[in-house]
Amino acid sequence: MSAAPYDIARVRGDFPILSRQVNGRPLAYLDSAASTQRPRAVLAAVEHYETHVHANVHRGVHTLSQLATDAFEAARERVRRYLNAASTHEIIFVRGATEAINLVAQSWGRMSLKTGDEIVISSLEHHANIVPWQMACEATGAKLVVAPINERGELQFEAYVALLGPRTRLVAMTHVSNALGTVLPVAQIIAAARERGIPTLIDGAQAVAHEAVDVQALGCDFYAFSSHKLYGPTGLGVLYGREALLEKMPPWQGGGDMIRTVSFEKSTWNDLPYKFEAGTPHISGAVGLAAAMDYVESLGLAQIAAHERSLLAQATESLSAIPGIRLHGTAAHKAGVLSFTLAGVHPHDLGTILDHEGVAIRAGHHCAMPLMELLGLPATARASFGCYSNAQDVIQLTEAVHKAREVFG
Ligand code: PMP
Repeated sequence: MSAAPYDIARVRGDFPILSRQVNGRPLAYLDSAASTQRPRAVLAAVEHYETHVHANVHRGVHTLSQLATDAFEAARERVRRYLNAASTHEIIFVRGATEAINLVAQSWGRMSLKTGDEIVISSLEHHANIVPWQMACEATGAKLVVAPINERGELQFEAYVALLGPRTRLVAMTHVSNALGTVLPVAQIIAAARERGIPTLIDGAQAVAHEAVDVQALGCDFYAFSSHKLYGPTGLGVLYGREALLEKMPPWQGGGDMIRTVSFEKSTWNDLPYKFEAGTPHISGAVGLAAAMDYVESLGLAQIAAHERSLLAQATESLSAIPGIRLHGTAAHKAGVLSFTLAGVHPHDLGTILDHEGVAIRAGHHCAMPLMELLGLPATARASFGCYSNAQDVIQLTEAVHKAREVFG
């Protein structure tokens, strides 16, 4: 949206936590793929809501309840606009990407799957887009089919298309791999499924903070993401679902708000999106997410993406020059994630040494154990960028990795 030059110093100034020290060193926060930090605008929006507005939503006639409901529903409209969904009926607030996928697996899955049916995923999936389907398969007799990747960590597109057959009921794929940073060609993935009448779910947890997402242009049936990876509060996420499909799906959790009438004999369901929102929602979280979306769009998603691409290039070059470093995931189209290993040093030890130097990275299987097994790795170290990451973070990372080599050398 904004055409102004990317002012990284100003952006960093918007994130108070970045000025703190860790272990006596300036913080180089390179774990944004796990959770992003929050700008002042988000912190202020949440504080304002909690200080001046809060009451429970939807049920009250009193002023605060109406104001809280207005704030919550305004946040829903903000999310609709961010995703360019056709209607707020299609925006369901959940706890996170994990819960969004579980909702579809439980509600759509139990309604639609039978023995012998197939769900196509990719080798790159996070556990959140594997395990809910395994549970649905267990309950219905359907099975998971896994589309392969090449040695660069890219989806093998032809092989994926070849897996789509008369038994395929759903394609569920990630938009961006959290472990390797690969950006998948979701528009083509969805188009291939649609041509065959197969619905699609896209796990957008790693995508929404790094590129503009237009669910109508993509043509997906479901799109899931978490607020806390988009500079918003934890404990909140969004499921976008195409209205015609959501209308057919049964609720998956029962309780307040999702009903129209209840008697001891039988209950009837509320309209969309409330049918899928049982219980009191995370109201302040939604307010914070709306502020985060305003913030991100004020910087411009294209500008953020370009900034992160330049950091990825800088980090790829400086880390590659260190003897014993191996980069994992070298896809042509990558988001700001760099997975690597250092010969002779376990990624957890590397993470600990880097932490002593004030560098926050993630070490482990990144909730993608099947992918790690495929790559023959127990774990990797992963540096990941956000809109506030800068060249100094990359320099501090590189120096800390050199230090780790000396310690273990
Ligand atoms: N999918 C992907 C690709 C992710 O990276 C993550 C978070 N690491 C999730 C799903 C799950 O997100 P959450 O834990 O916020 O539900």
